[in-house]
Amino acid sequence: MTANSFRRQGILFVISAPSGTGKSTLCGNLRATPDFIYSVSCTTRPPRPGETNNVDYHFLTVEEFQQKIKAGEMLEHAKVHLNYYGTLLAPVKKALEEGTDVLLDIDVQGAESIRGCKDPLIRSSLVDVFIMPPTLEELERRLRKRGTESEEQIQMRLARGKEEMQNWRLYRYTILSGSMEEDLIKFRAIMRAERYLSSRLTLV
Ligand code: 5GP
Repeated sequence: MTANSFRRQGILFVISAPSGTGKSTLCGNLRATPDFIYSVSCTTRPPRPGETNNVDYHFLTVEEFQQKIKAGEMLEHAKVHLNYYGTLLAPVKKALEEGTDVLLDIDVQGAESIRGCKDPLIRSSLVDVFIMPPTLEELERRLRKRGTESEEQIQMRLARGKEEMQNWRLYRYTILSGSMEEDLIKFRAIMRAERYLSSRLTLV
């Protein structure tokens, strides 16, 4: 008797959180495992110290970025904190078709436009997760601890974070952020359950 086995399409995990919540560290930890392909976004913002082109982001000029939008290469794009950010469509679709899960770290506007995406593969693969900071004070403390932004940038990110937090209900899951370990455990629980959804499986 041959054993049953399943094939499944990839899952598109979208994570959003106000800047400073600890999402980048969470994604960095998830990235270090072979569970996903991490989608490298395009951005027009300059690299921070320690960031590598084509690893952390594809760092583009505004002209190059606009060219990619025009050519229909972007799954979504948004202006965040005065710069443009966007996700390339082709690598995401290829991974999903191959049954590989994809992790996207994008803002609430990007998540919104993916929710509205007409592509049936993208729609059926989407699992969106919001990481909610425990309090605004804690968000401010985490932002300051990072030490990469000026006072003006911190204030801008806090104001934006406040707005973004109002969108949590639009996401399928919300994780109340605790320690990095707690956030990882919660995210992995979501990941495991989503991988066993019958609707994603095909018996082969
Ligand atoms: P940072 O400049 O701190 O790396 O990122 C700022 C914000 O841009 C974060 O909230 C991050 O999630 C968002 N972001 C990064 N890549 C993308 C993307 O491809 N699309 C969208 N819409 N937002 C992104």
